[in-house]
Amino acid sequence: MEKRELLYEGKAKKVFKTDDENAYIVDYKDDATALNGLKKGTIHDKGIINNRVTNHLMKLLEKNGVPTHLIKELSDRETLVKKVTIVPLEVIVRNVAAGSLAKRLGLPEGTVLSKTVLEYCYKDDALGDPMVNEYHIMAMNFCTKEELDLIASYALKINEILTDYLKDVNISLIDFKLEFGKTADGTIVLADEISPDTCRFWDTVTHEKLDKDRFRRDMGGEEDAYKEILARLLGE
Ligand code: ADP
Ligand code: MG
Repeated sequence: MEKRELLYEGKAKKVFKTDDENAYIVDYKDDATALNGLKKGTIHDKGIINNRVTNHLMKLLEKNGVPTHLIKELSDRETLVKKVTIVPLEVIVRNVAAGSLAKRLGLPEGTVLSKTVLEYCYKDDALGDPMVNEYHIMAMNFCTKEELDLIASYALKINEILTDYLKDVNISLIDFKLEFGKTADGTIVLADEISPDTCRFWDTVTHEKLDKDRFRRDMGGEEDAYKEILARLLGE
C-alpha cells in the first residue's frame, strides 16, 4: 500500500490518498481543539491512543454486525480505511446529560436520561455545527430517508454494544459522536473515529472524566486520562 498526496487536513487527523482508489490512509495527530476551534493545544501521544482505541472499538462493532470503514491498522498513527463520501452529519447519542444538552435543557450534568437521545448536527465548522432534524436533513439532501433510518438504527446498536463492553472495564458511556459515510457501492458504513476525543467516558464508580472534557474545561490530566482509556481497553 502506497501513501500518496494529502487530501485533507482536519483538526485531529490527516487523510491521504493511496494507490488504491477505494482506500485512504487516516493519520492521527496530537492536535486538540475545542470550542469550535477557538481553543487549540496538543495532547501528547493522543494520535497514537485514538488510532488504537478507534480500531479496537471498530473491530468490536464489526464482530457484532455493524459495518465500518476499517480495513487495517498500518502503524502507531496510521490506518487504512475504505474511502467514503461522508454524510455531513454528526450523529450524537446520549445516555446521560452532559455538555450542550445539560445546558440546553437545564439539567444537572450527570442526570441519567430516561430514554436514549439521538441528535443530528450539520457538520459545518463555519456554521458552528448547528443541530438539525429529519426535515432539515431531507430538505438539504444530506442523505435519503432510508439511509437516515439505517444510520439511526446503527447508532442505537453501537450504543448498546459499546455500553455493554465498557461496563466491564468500569467506564460509563455518557455520550458520543459518530460519522457515517457511503462507499463506492452505496453501502452506509461507520467512518471517522471513536475515541476520548469523540466520546464522554466517566469512571463508573468515581465519575472521573476520562475524555477530552479535561482539555475543554482546563481540568488538566488529559494525557493520563487518554492513557487510562487505552489501558482499560487494550490492557496496555
Ligand atoms: P474535522 O476537523 O473535519 O473533524 P478530522 O481531523 O476529524 O476532521 O479529520 C478527519 C476528516 O476525514 C473528517 O472530516 C471526516 O469526516 C473525514 N473522514 C473520516 N473517515 C473517512 C473516510 N473513511 N473517508 C473519507 N473521509 C473520512
Ligand atoms: Mg473530526
